[in-house]
Amino acid sequence: MPMFTPALSTEQRQILKIAEELAAEFGKNAAALDREGRFPLEHYDQAHEAGYLRLTLPREFGGWGADPYTFCLAQERLAQGCAGTALAMCMHLACQGLLSFLLTPEQQRAIFSDAVERRISFAGGGTEEETGGTWTELAPSARREGDHFILNTTKRFCSGAQRADYFYCFLGMADENREGLIANVSTFLVPRETPGVEVVPVWDSMGMRASGSDNLILRDVTVPESALVGRPGLGFSQASRWVYWFLFGESATYLGVAQSALELAVQHIRSRHAKHAGTKLAPGFDRQLAIGEMTARLETARAFVHQEAMGLSTPERMRRGYTQKSMARAAMAKYVATQTAIWVTDEALQILGGFGFLKEGAMERHYRDVRAGPFHPPRNSPSALALAGHHRLGLNLDPNMQQSASPAARAAA
Ligand SMILES: Cc1cc2nc3c(=O)[nH]c(=O)nc-3n(C[C@H](O)[C@H](O)[C@H](O)COP(=O)(O)OP(=O)(O)OC[C@H]3O[C@@H](n4cnc5c(N)ncnc54)[C@H](O)[C@@H]3O)c2cc1C
Repeated sequence: MPMFTPALSTEQRQILKIAEELAAEFGKNAAALDREGRFPLEHYDQAHEAGYLRLTLPREFGGWGADPYTFCLAQERLAQGCAGTALAMCMHLACQGLLSFLLTPEQQRAIFSDAVERRISFAGGGTEEETGGTWTELAPSARREGDHFILNTTKRFCSGAQRADYFYCFLGMADENREGLIANVSTFLVPRETPGVEVVPVWDSMGMRASGSDNLILRDVTVPESALVGRPGLGFSQASRWVYWFLFGESATYLGVAQSALELAVQHIRSRHAKHAGTKLAPGFDRQLAIGEMTARLETARAFVHQEAMGLSTPERMRRGYTQKSMARAAMAKYVATQTAIWVTDEALQILGGFGFLKEGAMERHYRDVRAGPFHPPRNSPSALALAGHHRLGLNLDPNMQQSASPAARAAA
């Protein structure tokens, strides 16, 4: 049964066609990339060529200027080819979408003007060894010296780093301990060619093995004031308004993996059924129920994600970004989408049984890939649930703290 698709504009259909064609191409390499744990630079060339990586680039710079809902529709389709590639591209597109609201007009002209010609790509660096997914408590790694900044850190899990031209980095500020700031974090856009920037290809993971989520090292990297995104020390809370690009992109990517797993389960049952050709036996009733429940849960999770993405898809809402309410709702949708994706994929493996366990098929890869969903920010627990709970209880907390939900941040509340 095809996925539910509402009425789409001509442009949306065009975008989905590109995503589906790329998925078909990338899908041919997915098993090998997974086996080798290799990041596919060639997929980026193909996706730039096809125009997919311009999805969230503003129209005035030659992009599609897509809204979050269209981004969801496209990412879910792309992820059905090679999930690792789709995740890295999700990070690029989410950074690009967020930056198109966060950068000043001057910065946008400097970075986006020749983005199409130069085929630029972005990667995001928030995670550090000591603080993990708590990006509000980063150790000081950026200091001001006159009219420039010196950056020193190692970022882990930087998806798509091998192909990135710019790194959108969250860094703790050393010298600007301004009173009243919950998180003294600044964000910088660091060009790859800056001396001291190094990408170390260390990614070797359980799943999402083609996402190239490598280490990014910044060693005495000197950047001008113009590399600062937003105001010093306020990088995290300012970026929080537009992180919807990440939540929706991630949700859609993992729904795509689960959809692929469901398709495999359906094919498997049908092929077993076909063995009885001539006698026309129906698959066991328990199988029908299982497929029914998987489909129902997946459709429900997708509908929730789409509903929240649509809510943010008017030009005014995209510009204004999250309110506490919409962030709490999108966090719930991300939670439901990634947990449901895991559940559906687990059920699908059960249907294939031992055959699903073999490396010769794609099911075991889907099973490993889908496990990464809960870890993306806001991590499902405690952050996404805390956002939802705080909002439901009517607690008026700074979104900055809710995102972190770390003990220190909660104590400060
Ligand atoms: C495939 C993949 C791609 C990624 N891509 C990127 C990327 O492009 N850029 C990037 O910056 N990062 C990326 N990440 C990293 C990710 O965003 C997280 O930062 C990373 O997984 C570490 O966060 P964590 O919550 O998993 O771990 P930790 O923060 O170390 O937490 C460990 C465990 O403790 C729990 N925990 C933490 N705090 C609390 C608390 N206060 N109360 C109760 N429990 C708590 C967490 O839920 C988790 O289960 C990626 C990760 C994966 C798996």
